[in-house]
Amino acid sequence: MSRVIDVHIHLSELRGDALRPFAEAHGLRYDLKELLSLMEENGVEAGLLLSPPLRDNTIVRNRRVLDLCSRSRGRLFPVLTVEPSAAAVRECVATARRNRGEVKGFKVRLGYVPSFPDDAVFSALYDFAESEGLPVMFHTGDTSLPNASLRHAHPLNLDALANVRSSLNIVVCHMGNPWIEDAAELVYKHRNVYADISGLFAVGAKYSKEYVEYLSGRVSNAIYFAGSAEKFLFGTDYPVETYQSALSFVGKLKLHEDDFDRVLYSNARKVFPI
Ligand SMILES: [Zn+2]
Repeated sequence: MSRVIDVHIHLSELRGDALRPFAEAHGLRYDLKELLSLMEENGVEAGLLLSPPLRDNTIVRNRRVLDLCSRSRGRLFPVLTVEPSAAAVRECVATARRNRGEVKGFKVRLGYVPSFPDDAVFSALYDFAESEGLPVMFHTGDTSLPNASLRHAHPLNLDALANVRSSLNIVVCHMGNPWIEDAAELVYKHRNVYADISGLFAVGAKYSKEYVEYLSGRVSNAIYFAGSAEKFLFGTDYPVETYQSALSFVGKLKLHEDDFDRVLYSNARKVFPI
């Protein structure tokens, strides 16, 4: 079994956390203590913690994410979520400066916010991220809210940004699912674009088993299309997926043996300064 880094974890310990129904479906308490013990049991050495959405489609404050990480005994590292306003960008950059070395990247919620990745409002964020060598993660693909905007969440929107920001490391979250081939094209085309395989499936649907089989074929094919597994990253989108199901999904990918460690561990260490 390879070492594991999970690049996409959510947690807040708040009642209004919109991901709570996923936790409940898995029988999880969804608190820090439980998360750390699940990481331990599943050989997950480190994880990146991202703010979950609240039920009103605002976000849990980054301050709470920093606080949970500081209580994690060095297992969780913060990624700051940046909303599309000049004030939010300024505040995030200031927080990242104050917590230099701790903060490992940024996240933009395409689809949940009506923004495109190359909107001018994010320029100062990208300048800072580039200068510090920190990646920016982008939610792409399906959204958990029925009134979110798929037009904004389509992964191909990232092409325009990657064209003009060749030294910004970009992570396409959820492989743009269902636009997995589009995400693979971005990874293939741009030296600085990576994709995480988090949050691709939930539980309980009638065809869950068949769907996971179908997805493992599509993700394997996307890796073949990109030409290597060097820019694909393991993530759970916890509590959307459990460690058990996410790791068993990776086991279904049809890859050469040496690529499992890349996807589960070593690629993450290249992208995120951990
Ligand atoms: Zn997520």
